[in-house]
Amino acid sequence: TAATRYLKDYLAQHGLLTLSVLAVATGCILGFSLRGYALSSQAKIYFSFPGELLMRLLKMLILPLITSSLMSGLSSMESKACCRMGVLTVTYYLWTTFIAVVVGIILVVVIKPGYGTEMESSRLGGGPVMTSADALLDLVRNMIPSNLIEATFQQYKTDLIPQLKATAKTIQPSFVYIVPGDENSKGQSVLLELTPPPEIHYKTLPGSSPQMNVLGIVIFSATMGLLLGKMGERGLPLVNVCQCINECVMKIINAAVWYFPFGIIFLVAGKILDMNDPSSIGRKLGWYAVTVLSGLFVHGLVLLPFFYFLLTRKNPFTYIRGLLQAMVIALATSSSSATLPITMKCLLENCQVERQIARFVLPVGATINMDGTALYEAVAAIFIAQVNEYELDLGQLVTISITATAASIGAAGIPQAGLVTMVIVLTSVGLPPDDITFIVAIDWILDRFRTMINVLGDALAAGIIAHLCRKDFPPREEGNSGAPNSH
Ligand code: ASP
Repeated sequence: TAATRYLKDYLAQHGLLTLSVLAVATGCILGFSLRGYALSSQAKIYFSFPGELLMRLLKMLILPLITSSLMSGLSSMESKACCRMGVLTVTYYLWTTFIAVVVGIILVVVIKPGYGTEMESSRLGGGPVMTSADALLDLVRNMIPSNLIEATFQQYKTDLIPQLKATAKTIQPSFVYIVPGDENSKGQSVLLELTPPPEIHYKTLPGSSPQMNVLGIVIFSATMGLLLGKMGERGLPLVNVCQCINECVMKIINAAVWYFPFGIIFLVAGKILDMNDPSSIGRKLGWYAVTVLSGLFVHGLVLLPFFYFLLTRKNPFTYIRGLLQAMVIALATSSSSATLPITMKCLLENCQVERQIARFVLPVGATINMDGTALYEAVAAIFIAQVNEYELDLGQLVTISITATAASIGAAGIPQAGLVTMVIVLTSVGLPPDDITFIVAIDWILDRFRTMINVLGDALAAGIIAHLCRKDFPPREEGNSGAPNSH
């Protein structure tokens, strides 16, 4: 009948998305209903195992995806077109990040979530632990990894971390953790995002982190891609290898997505089992969350679509509909790097963005373009100032807008990376970095939403850049170009 045909068509087109949304809902229900049972930490590990596998699967794909995409994508482009695309991409990214910060500042100044007497503020002062200049140096350091192999498994290798240690330790012990550097490993301490239980990670990962230095890898692969393009015939063997790897990775993604709904249920439920008691969140923190969420909403669903429309004259919401699957994954994983394979799949299959553009704009965006994070950093810093009853003048607001932009560029696309780079913003205006503890309790949930906006920002940028550069890339079919199943 017509109804069953409609249902079949619907499931073929949106089945995966529907399943993923249902999985998030099921995960929430399951998580909340199991909270009453006080599961042991061992039981929680077993319970979260399918979710852990999902994260591992996604992370496994990042390295081959980024290197093969950038190398094969850029090698087949004229250098003039590359240059134009690169400049447009970076300019657009900086611009939208800055706009996001401004939206955040306006909202937090108007809503004033931090005023009133409810939270105990710590004394101001204590001296900055990390200056903005240090943070900038750190960003540039990450761009040039001294050891490429190491860059694939180590996220932060910096002389600044020991200074940060004192601060980070005071954040909830089960949350962000620094592997203490001993005499020999001075300057090699690593920042870890802790999935429970902390002790296990601490024991198994001394001196290393499961995250990689994506920025360094992006820069290296892009340079290789450009050079391979210039080599012509001689570069072809390596280009072909990259295209084959890319094609295989896309095939793995197409198969793996069917596991995702199952993994999402346990990923979400596991997190809910682990979270603090929601009733402990006070009124101020509630208003702070409302401010961040409304900022994300305005930026992601009003301003960014408006820019998209302005620059392409196409319907932004039709475009966004094609991205929903990636946004659900961002919500479930709170990592834009881990979501990258799915964002790529959505762009190529649903949004029909030119392949070479997606291969460049997305990996770069997942690393440096984080509108949601920038907005949140600005709101959080000003919220902390309000709690401290610390009046910020215009100059300090400008400083916050610049450091929040820089901090979001420096944040890795991993869960709650933004909370760590917050220290830069706070110290730039003389606020106590220890006050990060105020916002830790609800950071994990806000992280999920800001990651969604980060991913959305990258994907909309790809659509815009594809439109602006359309003369350089007339749509065409590449024979063995590593196209995913774009039926
Ligand atoms: N989790 C965010 C992302 O991966 C970064 C952050 O804001 O913490 O995009």
